Amino acid sequence: MKDLKNNGEEGSSRRRFLKRLGIGVGAVSLAGVAGTAIISGKEAKARSGKKVKLLSPDGKLVEVDQDDIKPAKEIVAALKDEARKGLPDRKFAMVIDLAKCKNARKCVEACQEGHMLPKDHEWMKLYLLQDDIHTAKYWFPRPCFHCDKPMCVSVCPVGATFKRADGIVLIDNQRCIGCKFCMTGCPYSARVFNWEDPKVKLPPGHVYDPETNIPAVEGTVGKCIFCADNLRRNELPRCVTACPMGVIYFGDLLEDTVTNGNETVRFSQLMTDRAGYRYREELGTLPSVYYLPPAQRMFPVERGLEGTDESIKGRYKKAGPR
Ligand code: SF4
Repeated sequence: MKDLKNNGEEGSSRRRFLKRLGIGVGAVSLAGVAGTAIISGKEAKARSGKKVKLLSPDGKLVEVDQDDIKPAKEIVAALKDEARKGLPDRKFAMVIDLAKCKNARKCVEACQEGHMLPKDHEWMKLYLLQDDIHTAKYWFPRPCFHCDKPMCVSVCPVGATFKRADGIVLIDNQRCIGCKFCMTGCPYSARVFNWEDPKVKLPPGHVYDPETNIPAVEGTVGKCIFCADNLRRNELPRCVTACPMGVIYFGDLLEDTVTNGNETVRFSQLMTDRAGYRYREELGTLPSVYYLPPAQRMFPVERGLEGTDESIKGRYKKAGPR
């Protein structure tokens, strides 16, 4: 496998890699902005030249042209519009190296914290799998697979869940009617139902955006969203940066490049060298998540149970051949 960081071909640190990807260039993260107005990403046709002061999403006081400001109801509409379009000229993919995973659960924690999810609400699930009685067990992280042919999208009767051109599948919780058809349609059980209001304390001026799905709305469905909000900010998904083992790679198939934050590699070469595959490929859903087989595992599977909550350990008692 060619490590682009080490051979210097691209001179790529993670930052440089992401910069080259251009994730989020020209886009403004709108979530969490104070007040009832926001800077519009589009050019105003006629400008008054009048300036006003605003608090930017990163907490700085900025002076902007009044024509670039929109009232709150338009912000939500603009956010939803942008969320449905996605990022141009991108095709995102994730690669999960099963040989390195030891059930550290940092990906789950970072996901829950970042999306203000209750503890029992896991968008990233960690399973203990065993393919055959003669083979070893291994840990298997399972986000949403962001399928190219998502069954969840095709069965939604109200268009609340949708797939964008960059490959990410999102849910508009304000449109979702909670019918659960998508949960039934997903063959990977990647969706969870919000049975109750998560009762989270939102930042002042918080505006709902399908790219964060914060807050989860009672009576609707949630799932992993590949941290679409982070991608707009030129940042990797939370699970990628939180994993201490570098298990999760993320990147752009159009660039043929993925990174786990430490090493940046050619996606195609990684797949060839490590015999990458997609889970249950025979279903024809074309997941955007790829796995590297758990060959020559770096840790004994038991290490994944050390220091784990008894309630979580209980999930794995019956793990055996599928
Ligand atoms: Fe939809 Fe399930 Fe595929 Fe995710 S894994 S895109 S929820 S069908």
